[in-house]
Amino acid sequence: MEQTFIAVKPDGVQRGLCGEIIKRFETRGYQLVAAKFVQSSEEHMKSHYADLKDMPFYSGLCKYMSSGPVFAMVWEGQGIVKLARMMLGETNPADSKPGSIRGDLCVNIGRNIIHGSDTLENAKREIGLWFKPEEMVTYTSCAKAFLY
Ligand code: ADP
Ligand code: MG
Repeated sequence: MEQTFIAVKPDGVQRGLCGEIIKRFETRGYQLVAAKFVQSSEEHMKSHYADLKDMPFYSGLCKYMSSGPVFAMVWEGQGIVKLARMMLGETNPADSKPGSIRGDLCVNIGRNIIHGSDTLENAKREIGLWFKPEEMVTYTSCAKAFLY
């Protein structure tokens, strides 16, 4: 089953938005298979965002992401990588439609409250960077029988 990496960023955590974000993935029909509340190092964030290392905002981004705890999660379900990105909205909240997480809950591109993997390949890389295999659970949810 397809999996993606989702993290509530430090601003989302401090604004009290973890519950709202979890609720949206739960009610969409996705299944939580790993979660941890951690403050990660700047080095860890530099690896996480390695593909953006040449961008002018890279250093500030890694500092912001390590400035406080993040709520890191792995969610599982059909087509989740692409659908989660649609649920997030655009990178810039100002371009995000109402109804999306960023379109409903934030306004600033530098403080856009949530991360979601953009491709299946990156989802695998990010899950490996944040979680050990033994931190992932497998269980059969009865609800799955009703989701297509
Ligand atoms: P996304 O998080 O939507 O995948 P990117 O991977 O392009 O977006 O960028 C990673 C993160 O870097 C963004 O979520 C945002 O926090 C930050 N970021 C992107 N562009 C800018 C920018 N122009 N100025 C400040 N921060 C930015
Ligand atoms: Mg990205």
